[in-house]
Amino acid sequence: MAELIPHPFGSLINRMFDELETEQSIFDFPEKKFFCGLSGKDYSVNFHGKKSSSALGPASGPQTQMAQNILLSWLGGCRIMELKTVQILDELEIPRPCIDMQTVGYNVEWSQELRIEQSLHEYVKGAMLIEILQASGKLELAENFGDVLYDMSVGYDLAGIQSDKVRQFIEGMQDASEIVEHYRQQIPEQYREFRKLDFQTKLSDTLTLSTFHGCPPEEIEKIIDYLFREHGLNCIIKLNPTLLGKEKVRHLFNEILGYAEIHVPDEAFENDASWEQAQGFVERLGETAKTLGLCFGVKFNNTLIVENHRDFFPQSEKVMYLSGTPLHVLGIHLVQQFREKFGDQFPISFSAGIDKTNFADAVALGLTPITVCSDLLKVGGYSRSSAYYKELNSRMDNLGVSDIESYLLKAYGNAEQALKNIASGAGNISGTEVAAVDALRKTLENGGEFRKVAGAQVAPLANEIFEKWLSEVKLLNTKTYVDEVTTQARYTLEKNSNPPRKVGTTLELFDCLTCDKCIPVCPNDANFALNIPQGETEILEFENNKSSWSVKAKNSLKLEKKYQIANFADFCNECGNCDIFCPEDGGPFLLKPRFFGSLETFQEFSHRDGFYIESEKTSAQASIVFSRFDGKEYRVSETGNTVNYSGPDFEVQFSKNDPANTISGEAKSRVSFLNYEIMQMMRASYESKSR
Ligand code: SF4
Ligand code: SF4
Repeated sequence: MAELIPHPFGSLINRMFDELETEQSIFDFPEKKFFCGLSGKDYSVNFHGKKSSSALGPASGPQTQMAQNILLSWLGGCRIMELKTVQILDELEIPRPCIDMQTVGYNVEWSQELRIEQSLHEYVKGAMLIEILQASGKLELAENFGDVLYDMSVGYDLAGIQSDKVRQFIEGMQDASEIVEHYRQQIPEQYREFRKLDFQTKLSDTLTLSTFHGCPPEEIEKIIDYLFREHGLNCIIKLNPTLLGKEKVRHLFNEILGYAEIHVPDEAFENDASWEQAQGFVERLGETAKTLGLCFGVKFNNTLIVENHRDFFPQSEKVMYLSGTPLHVLGIHLVQQFREKFGDQFPISFSAGIDKTNFADAVALGLTPITVCSDLLKVGGYSRSSAYYKELNSRMDNLGVSDIESYLLKAYGNAEQALKNIASGAGNISGTEVAAVDALRKTLENGGEFRKVAGAQVAPLANEIFEKWLSEVKLLNTKTYVDEVTTQARYTLEKNSNPPRKVGTTLELFDCLTCDKCIPVCPNDANFALNIPQGETEILEFENNKSSWSVKAKNSLKLEKKYQIANFADFCNECGNCDIFCPEDGGPFLLKPRFFGSLETFQEFSHRDGFYIESEKTSAQASIVFSRFDGKEYRVSETGNTVNYSGPDFEVQFSKNDPANTISGEAKSRVSFLNYEIMQMMRASYESKSR
């Protein structure tokens, strides 16, 4: 199985700054596509009593599984990071491939693939990278865009969550001082000024609970109760779309949206918490949270469990988890169902088919955080979230607003109605409250900053009225949007059944369409461009006959493309996503040159071909190149002008400038220099990369 291997912190820092300087990108995310906020726009929201510069965040998934992923999410404008779920079983065998983004989005992956302790370290490293980059002043970060929050996610049952391993993880996130000190020492000398930073050590006091599909409701309630009392965490429960009930899910999903062939098994409804049960535990947990002075909310949705009706995942997987576009409609219906019962009493976190069009709607509904996963796995990757802000900005500009509360009030034209509802609903509304409502109404007519008016003109009661107004608008906006979203064609099967185009050719080690799609679609930044010059290289083939060497054949290796595509094995868990979006067949992660980050990983994953380049030890010695072609290992080392090249059944030495006349050594059969030439190309190009 392919494993993710955390990268040394110092190397991540070096690469972050070097790449920004030399290639105007960070971890292959081009600088021109970063979203660093806009002057004059305030997207801030409140999450569990803390300020975040935006409601947008990566969902607990591939985008938060490694340190560089967290930074990449941040560069795309995400500000509430729901960290990938950790659980006691941290040595899982995940089937590969595990992500199928051909149409709507299916997966068979679940929690973090790293060990729990590694996850904790990756999360701390990610947060420190962000702080260092922020402190460097190398980005033009808008004044209101600096606040970022980290939200833990743990699973999946009470016994596991009570285990020492998970406890240590939670405590480590609540106080990461030791880990921060450990990594502070690893900040390279060149960047020593950042060793003085006052890094955040209380990384998180919030948690979103992920439970098994089919987790008994009593168990869910006990887990949250435990997390409240034992760890003092503000909590959110992620709930399943099955809460809508069998009839409604099937009506919406199979009939309205047209996914008639996809079956949600009966057991999914029978095993999951029912709506009645969920209402019960939400009420009780809400009360407990209040008593303990903590925050409590819900999240819509978890993925939807469906029968494995495709041949993408191994057939041993009887079910798979649907995500992406159609889930949006189910999620919004759940928001409405929940708000009809609970009003705006509990905050709602949201994750279901968020994209550049509907992000602004989710903001208008006051959902926080609004998390995204599937869309960021499509072409463009992390940079896709910049487009979310483009749409939100355009809507905010049209409404003449510059902050989220004002946007929410005006987004669907429900503000006036909401004021009327408050005034009439209150019945015995007091004189002061009437004055407050009037002041707010005037602000609505004349344009102005609602929060200021509420605070200054008729304080203190006006603030209370203002909060009521916001809540009422959220409820009305939900109604407006649910009607709209249900009938939108973009969520239907018809609009979501075309897989990415394939051209019918198969990838080879070198040259391809060089469309670059595989680079950003990798959530871990495992694929990258390699600068190997175009041209033709002569390939000699030698024969050793009674200690006399002669050239027996001359061939050539021709590279036609301006650059090549490569894969960094330590960041690749073979999820398969780049294969989906590559127009050619075979999978870039399988067929393109693969580089390992250490000799250990090169040797450990011996079932995969690839290269490891060991940095030079002395100035007289060039880096040693290790490689595997068709499972056979080769090695090239150089001292001065002398090259030592060995393979499965040969070891030869020669002068670099004149192999034909200087070669000597042992060989059981002919020695082709094809692999030697490739290894030399790999060394030269890989070393020129800031990796
Ligand atoms: S390189 Fe491809 S297969 Fe590997 S992790 Fe990235 S997207 Fe997945
Ligand atoms: S490997 Fe595939 S996706 Fe990547 S650049 Fe080549 S053709 Fe495009």
